[in-house]
Amino acid sequence: MAASISSSSNECEGSMTAMKYFASAVPLSLRVVAECPVSKARACILTLPHSPVNTPVFMPVGTQGTMKGITANQLEDLGCQICLGNTYHLGMRPGPELIEKANGLHGFMSWKRNLLTDSGGFQMVSLVELSEVTEEGVMFRSPYDGKEILLTPEQSISIQNSLGSDIMMQLDDVVSSTVKGPRVEEAMHRSVRWLDRCIAANKNPERQNLFAIIQGGLDARLRKACLDEMTKRDVPGFAIGGLSGGEEKDDFWKMVTLSTDHLPRNKPRYLMGVGYALDLVVCVALGCDMFDCVFPTRTARFGSALVPWGSLQLKQKQYAKDFHPIDPECQCPTCKRHSRAYLHALFKSDTAAMHHVTIHNINYQLRLMRDVRQSIIDQKFPEFVKVFMERMFPSPEDYPSWAVDALHSVNICLK
Ligand SMILES: [Zn+2]
Repeated sequence: MAASISSSSNECEGSMTAMKYFASAVPLSLRVVAECPVSKARACILTLPHSPVNTPVFMPVGTQGTMKGITANQLEDLGCQICLGNTYHLGMRPGPELIEKANGLHGFMSWKRNLLTDSGGFQMVSLVELSEVTEEGVMFRSPYDGKEILLTPEQSISIQNSLGSDIMMQLDDVVSSTVKGPRVEEAMHRSVRWLDRCIAANKNPERQNLFAIIQGGLDARLRKACLDEMTKRDVPGFAIGGLSGGEEKDDFWKMVTLSTDHLPRNKPRYLMGVGYALDLVVCVALGCDMFDCVFPTRTARFGSALVPWGSLQLKQKQYAKDFHPIDPECQCPTCKRHSRAYLHALFKSDTAAMHHVTIHNINYQLRLMRDVRQSIIDQKFPEFVKVFMERMFPSPEDYPSWAVDALHSVNICLK
């Protein structure tokens, strides 16, 4: 533990004091600030080693230590309190040793606020064709040099310990949400066993929080069994995993609400891979606190700007002479300065266009969650949901039935 903070400079004293403070404190606490009297929505303050985080929160995803199209400084200016780093990419290149030398991922990317790192497992299953899961770990072929690599729960935690993230994710046995049969049950039980190996492997439990990931596919019995087992472990937080993988939305929300029904009230609930505005609002109503998704930044690179009434495809001809900002109500640096027409023209010639829209889209997500949170605190969340739906869809006939049903299940009736 001392190795990463013993390296020279005056700043070291400051971080040493901070480290002592955190060593004697629990590295995470959750205070429920307000609860919706109608639905399961709640507003909390999640205190993490680098700063407090207001929840519900959307966490933008960074890759290789930098957000695509946005700097750490800009992310800070938008009010982002926590973002994600990809363990898989960082573990391969530049490698955990180099990042440890830079005082962890915070030092490496010069980010003063909180970081969450994933286990690296999901990327392997989704990005790497050749991967094989055994009890020992996930075997895969490196896309960089073709070598066979075995990622074990111990190695995943070791890499995340080197990265120094505030929240680390357990290595889990991931199966696609569309897979059915005995493989789902096997993966669920293995994920519980791997959680125990991850807990044992964590070298920094006093300053790095390990989250469990609830699995069990779309089978309520398996989800419940996983919830029962994992909540017996005293981990700082829980993620709901294995969803958002192309399953029916009706199955999706039922698994989410089953999970939040059985997760402890005093710990954060992180729904992985969810980032569409509608899904965020519905899943807050179902009791989730934290979300991440590559969607807002990925879609920005294709010229799609998120707005309260859906999205603008800025490459389309209709914006060539449109001198309005993307969203007249948005206070982001892009909307304050540039018109749709300018961005439309820029997309033809310059990657700066992607950068401008990325900033807008991240700001949209963060603002949406701030507004959601404020409505919960003001005890007006159901009204907020109704106005949100009216703005997002031309008429109530266009409301997706899964969203209507999900909200109805927590007493928010749209029709
Ligand atoms: Zn904007």
